[in-house]
Amino acid sequence: MKDSKTIVVTGGTGFLGSNLCARLIKDGYRVICVDNNYTGRLKNVQELQNHPNFRFLLHDVIQPLEIDEKIDQIYNLACPASPRHYQGKAAVFTTKTCVLGALNLLELAKRNGATILQASTSEVYGEPAVHPQPETYRGNVNPIGIRACYDEGKRCAESLFFDYHREEGVDIKVVRIFNTYGPNMNPEDGRVVSNIICQALKGEDITLYGDGSQTRSFCYVDDLIEAFIRMMNSPKGFTGPVNTGNPGEFTVKELADLVISKIGGKQHIVYQPLPKDDPTHRKPDITLAKEKLGWEPKIKLSEGLDKTIAYFKSILEEK
Ligand code: NAD
Ligand code: UDP
Repeated sequence: MKDSKTIVVTGGTGFLGSNLCARLIKDGYRVICVDNNYTGRLKNVQELQNHPNFRFLLHDVIQPLEIDEKIDQIYNLACPASPRHYQGKAAVFTTKTCVLGALNLLELAKRNGATILQASTSEVYGEPAVHPQPETYRGNVNPIGIRACYDEGKRCAESLFFDYHREEGVDIKVVRIFNTYGPNMNPEDGRVVSNIICQALKGEDITLYGDGSQTRSFCYVDDLIEAFIRMMNSPKGFTGPVNTGNPGEFTVKELADLVISKIGGKQHIVYQPLPKDDPTHRKPDITLAKEKLGWEPKIKLSEGLDKTIAYFKSILEEK
């Protein structure tokens, strides 16, 4: 084995978490995957379940977490990530997950002297008045809107991370993730890439919210996981926050057109109302990630979409 480190991944049965677990197992680490399966699925880690270095713990991070072995690193990814799953009746649960989850995992890191990485988000920038967004931009978030449970929850988690670093000397790493897509996304996830691909594959209407002119920057999952690992293993004392995302910026309509051109068929786009507080544009400035982690994304949108379409095709055929 290359390294005997034991690594906790919360949110490990979700989209990013399961891709991260697979990469860590492949790299020879011992992985403890922690999840309450709120949006995650055991299916995503099925191939890892029999591996001697892999262990799954069914646990809600709102509750304190005790682990009966020494932990070296923690990736804190547990949190609903799609507006469909964090809003409405899940809003209070989402804030609790962000805040109490961060607190409980920071305590675990403190007890173990472990390094802990927080999966923060571009949503901390809210509706950005600066474009593209550098880490120094403090954001423009509506603190009482329908996205606040997530945006403010993640902002509070960042603040807890920095207070544990200052008060307790915990070794922290914070990444701000921009829209990421790829295999192991849940077809019911509700985010734009999975929605559009699944709709196109099923021959259903393609739903665009607003006029489709809002922009996002889409990063393929393998690129993002590489950034996670580089950040986790960056020199002690380098805390971030670091933007991790692909600076290629597309309107949602351009994304839909690209997916439709790849899948073919007669697709019909239907325009639905733009949800409240939906950011009009978003694009990471990744200067810091390039400089400190030697990282930048390699996979272009078209190539990443091909792999993602192939994944959704295979799971829709299974049904
Ligand atoms: P996902 O919904 O697929 O994964 C989230 C995982 O967290 C799921 O497995 C879910 O069951 C688990 N979870 C939720 N609440 C929990 C709780 N209270 N206790 C234990 N487990 C819980 O979403 P994802 O895209 O994989 O997101 C992973 C992380 O990355 C999230 O923290 C999200 O905020 C962050 N992020 C993702 C993106 C992206 O584009 N994918 C962008 C920004 C930030
Ligand atoms: N969106 C859309 N159709 C969908 C789902 C989302 O047009 O079926 C839009 C959504 O309004 C937003 C963008 O696509 O402007 C990205 O949404 P997503 O939920 O993927 O991520 P986030 O809003 O968190 O960036």
